[in-house]
Amino acid sequence: MIPKTKKRKKRGIKAKKLLDLWALCVKTRDGYTCQYCHKNYTNNTRGVNAHHIWTKGGHPIVKFSLRNGITLCVYCHRMEAHGRSQLFNEWVKKKLGKKTHDLLYIRANQHGKNDLTLVELELNYELKELRNAGL
Ligand SMILES: [Zn+2]
Repeated sequence: MIPKTKKRKKRGIKAKKLLDLWALCVKTRDGYTCQYCHKNYTNNTRGVNAHHIWTKGGHPIVKFSLRNGITLCVYCHRMEAHGRSQLFNEWVKKKLGKKTHDLLYIRANQHGKNDLTLVELELNYELKELRNAGL
C-alpha cells in the first residue's frame, strides 16, 4: 500500500499539471485575448493569465471547469480582477449572462472531490475540440 502522504503528494503534482492544462484550454478558447480590455497576446502568450472566476482554493469543485476560467492580460488580472474585484465581478456577471452565472454559482458552491483522471480526460478532449475548431 502507498502511504497517505505519498498519495497526497502524487495527487498534488497531478493537480498542478492539470491546472496548466486547464489554463491552456481557457487561453486557447479565448484566442489569447484579454476578455476585459480585448488586447490580443497571440505573439506574447506569457502576457495573459487564465483567471479563476471562483477561487480555486475556496471553490475546488470548479477549479478545473472551463466555464470558471477567463483569459485576462497580466495587467487586468492584477489591477481589475484582484484589484477592483467588486467592479470586476459585476462585469463577469454581465459577460457570462445571468443563467450561466447562476449555474456556475451553484456548481461552485457544491462539495466533493474532483476525479483527476476524469478531469484529465475531459480537458484533453476539450483541447482537441478547440484545436479542431481552428483555435
Ligand atoms: Zn486586459
